[in-house]
Amino acid sequence: MFSFTSIKNYQQFLTENPNGCVVAVKEYLKKIDQQQHLNAFLEVFETDALQQAILLDEKRKQGKPLGKLHGVIVAIKDVLCYKGHKVSAASKILENYKAVYNATAIEKLLNEDAIIIGRNNCDEFAMGSSNENSAYGVVKNALNETLVPGGSSGGSAVAVQAGLCMVSLGSDTGGSVRQPADFCGIIGLKPTYGRISRYGLIAYASSFDQIGIFANNIEDAALVLEVIAGADEFDSTISHQPINEYSNLNTSSNKKYKIAYFKEMLEHPALDIEIKNSIQQYIQQLKNIGHEIEALDFDLLKYIVPTYYVLTTAEASSNLSRFDGIKYGYHSTPPTNSLTDLYKNTRSKGFGKEVQRRIMLGTFVLSAGYYDAYFTKAQQVRNILYTKTKEIFKTVDAIIAPTVPATAFPIGSASNNPVEMFLADIYTVYANLVGIPGISIPLFKHSNGMPFGLQVMTNHFNELTLLALSKNMMELK
Ligand code: GLN
Repeated sequence: MFSFTSIKNYQQFLTENPNGCVVAVKEYLKKIDQQQHLNAFLEVFETDALQQAILLDEKRKQGKPLGKLHGVIVAIKDVLCYKGHKVSAASKILENYKAVYNATAIEKLLNEDAIIIGRNNCDEFAMGSSNENSAYGVVKNALNETLVPGGSSGGSAVAVQAGLCMVSLGSDTGGSVRQPADFCGIIGLKPTYGRISRYGLIAYASSFDQIGIFANNIEDAALVLEVIAGADEFDSTISHQPINEYSNLNTSSNKKYKIAYFKEMLEHPALDIEIKNSIQQYIQQLKNIGHEIEALDFDLLKYIVPTYYVLTTAEASSNLSRFDGIKYGYHSTPPTNSLTDLYKNTRSKGFGKEVQRRIMLGTFVLSAGYYDAYFTKAQQVRNILYTKTKEIFKTVDAIIAPTVPATAFPIGSASNNPVEMFLADIYTVYANLVGIPGISIPLFKHSNGMPFGLQVMTNHFNELTLLALSKNMMELK
């Protein structure tokens, strides 16, 4: 029987098993089938995955050079374009739409011999924190099926959590990789804005969106990052900074870090008391082994969720205007007499409630009379946050925080209260507003039986420190 622990061990298994990729793909297809009720996959690319596995097994038999992700079985969030395959952003408006090109991240995965096994359910257009906004049904948390898996990349998180793939890709605009990772007890990494090309990632809020990685261990996340990061002529916001060898982590436990946390984050009334206590005890533990911990003031905390929602909805209202019933996917029938009616009907029927709410909110904050009051002000807050963050990282290596104020909540319990749902993002949107990398690592377990994570953030393009420190922390636990 095949069982997965890490990419390294799996690739060792492949050297001893000539048909190892096919064996592994079949095993995953079986598991996906057994766990269909979790609703983590919108589509399984069974034929393609098996075909790719056969080709890769053949490649090894012929002694050809192998890619870094040789045989690794990856699931992708339904917002990433994989040529010739459907991609719907979990929306009715893109139902049956097929990608006409590969996202750069997908192209890079395939170039390094990965196998893409299917596309994962998510909140529609990546808008949500619970995966309840998908047009194709909720995803269940595999640890307790009455609870949400988090969102918006809930399907990708559950795919890793339930062992339905080895690693998966999600997208993180305000926490959509770190938050479901926290709820599911796995690792969720959001790199620096501009580290991974956004080409072929369906846009939600372009100055925030970043592809992220779910994995069971730090080494796997690091290796996938190494493969998919880097310059790309198709993304004008990509960074040209060289890619570090992330998979070659210096994790000497002798290295002592200077770590900060924000007092207001730990003192926030919405923070579950057990999560607070665990993190406080953990901070003490870090001090005991010689790390330097500094408590900082962060009086901007109350502004970050409103700032995030003003700016992201504004960008979304512009990005989503391309879905008009003519260029892509769904268009309403019967045909109407006027073009405006066609737009209206298509967009009213094609988009779900949350997406409509955000388009309207975004259009409002950009409208002539309100632009300065909301949009300009939010940009100003974003600038202040950025300056403050650069100042902090002059003297510290990392910032730690809770990932989410509470553990996974029951399906249906928060879906009628958007403001409460928005507050779930209070600890994650900061990294997106300023563009720094962040990770959620599964260090804790609540007395209610559910896991929760610690969030670690570092300076722009310092994924090496982020990953090395996270690995040390996971070993400490
Ligand atoms: N929960 C946040 C939102 O609904 C984050 C979404 C995301 O990161 N894609 O906007």
